[in-house]
Amino acid sequence: MKYKELLSKVQKELNLDGAKERREALITSMHKNEQSGLDCLKCSGRCCTYSANSMNMTNLEALEALVFLEENNLINEDLIERLEKCVEDFRLDQFFQTGRSTFFRKTYTCPFFNFPSWGCGLGSKNKPYGCLAFNPREANQTNGGNCSADLNIQIKRLETYEDLEIKASLSIAEALKIPEDKASIPYKLLEFLKAK
Ligand code: SF4
Ligand code: SF4
Repeated sequence: MKYKELLSKVQKELNLDGAKERREALITSMHKNEQSGLDCLKCSGRCCTYSANSMNMTNLEALEALVFLEENNLINEDLIERLEKCVEDFRLDQFFQTGRSTFFRKTYTCPFFNFPSWGCGLGSKNKPYGCLAFNPREANQTNGGNCSADLNIQIKRLETYEDLEIKASLSIAEALKIPEDKASIPYKLLEFLKAK
């Protein structure tokens, strides 16, 4: 339970709310959408595939995902191979700089899309905030197309948590001697899994 211990330590040091609490507004909004018919049940899941997904995650988001994987006994050689294959297939280890500290965000099919079960394998309490914020704006879509992120909720969430979350990601980087920067989901998780 090494990831759980590290997350607890960081949360305690910074007096940071838990993963679910910090996602609460996004989860509530998603459920409201679902109740009004704006759900993803008939969709192919385009936003999780290379045709529309370029999600990056912070160290804190990665640590929360790893706690979930650890608790569900999903951290093993198969998972590492799956993450490595994704990085290789979509060349996520090659970075193209577009500005002083900005990089081109490549698209990729998320390794947790329909893994280990249907839908998002990380579950709503542990997946990146950006994934939770992205919702359909039209009912019964079969391949996305009319979906977007709710920026108001994201901005509100950041106003409450951004400073502490940045500190948490820095603290994790120092503890594991990994980079502070965000990266794609598989690349960032491999940084953790390969940390000495
Ligand atoms: S973490 Fe889940 S919602 Fe986000 S891209 Fe991956 S499968 Fe999709
Ligand atoms: S309806 Fe939109 S948000 Fe839902 S799975 Fe499809 S592309 Fe993603």
